[in-house]
Amino acid sequence: MAFDSLSEKLQEAFQSLKGKGKITEEDVNLALRQVRTALLEADVNFMVAKDFVKSIKEKALGEEVFGSLNPAQTVIKIVNDELTALLGGTQSRIMISSKPPTIIMLVGLQGAGKTTTAGKLAVYLRKQGKHPMLVAADVYRPAAITQLQVVGKQIDIPVFADETPGANPVDIARRAVEQSTHMLKDVVIIDTAGRLAIDEVLMDELSNIKAAVRPHEILLVVDSMIGQDAVTTAQTFNEKLGVDGVILTKLDGDARGGAALSIKAVTGLPIKFTGVSEKMDGFDVFYPDRMASRILD
Ligand code: GDP
Repeated sequence: MAFDSLSEKLQEAFQSLKGKGKITEEDVNLALRQVRTALLEADVNFMVAKDFVKSIKEKALGEEVFGSLNPAQTVIKIVNDELTALLGGTQSRIMISSKPPTIIMLVGLQGAGKTTTAGKLAVYLRKQGKHPMLVAADVYRPAAITQLQVVGKQIDIPVFADETPGANPVDIARRAVEQSTHMLKDVVIIDTAGRLAIDEVLMDELSNIKAAVRPHEILLVVDSMIGQDAVTTAQTFNEKLGVDGVILTKLDGDARGGAALSIKAVTGLPIKFTGVSEKMDGFDVFYPDRMASRILD
């Protein structure tokens, strides 16, 4: 499970502080060096790890850790707060339009988990009392349309698709939004095409869909297992398209957690949800404070 190894290493780092009635600046320095190594081993961005440790040190000195009754606890509390901030601070909700339909566009590289996530998001929103529909806007791989239809059937959510050869994804997205009102659907989730790497043609197409339907949320679906490449991907999508948040998939298979810990600091984008299994209910709202506590537990 993600963060297990980081969690263990952080415990080790604090072990030397625990049980000490008084700790010196040198004790804190030693523990923080271990924290930094633990972060780097978790594939956290180098600058992010450096700033993180620096900030903890400043706070530790400021909060008079050295004179406190339980100095180890005080340091751990500071680390907990900083870790929460690093993971995004507060929970980031998705924007639900007061005037339906709410339009959500999912973007990302091929294999990131877009289609699966489209289904998961629909199930999640249905549980919130919404009436979602799915849109197959990846027209280049016929299998992609079929895959979304299979997902839709499995979870009993309608899928808007056009299998006519040469169908235009911008047109499909626009028509789907028009249809949503007749279908009594108040959330439209658009599954867009992905590529193995980011290219101009893909970005232009996504920009055209964005201009045509003006989504309330553009969510980047990114595979946490690719570590720092996930961060770079998020940065590029955000620069070229403008993204509102990230859905980090496959956290169940990510032993390190470096992407989760670096994305917000590097790109400014909040993680809104995580994917934690292949199943349709393997989807969680991302709470930075809960994740931080879990890591330090
Ligand atoms: P797309 O190309 O971006 O649409 O990606 P898919 O939705 O087809 O997903 C690619 C693979 O990742 C599939 O085998 C999914 O079952 C798997 N997958 C997606 N999300 C998760 C997740 O959160 N955890 C795990 N373990 N597998 C996932």
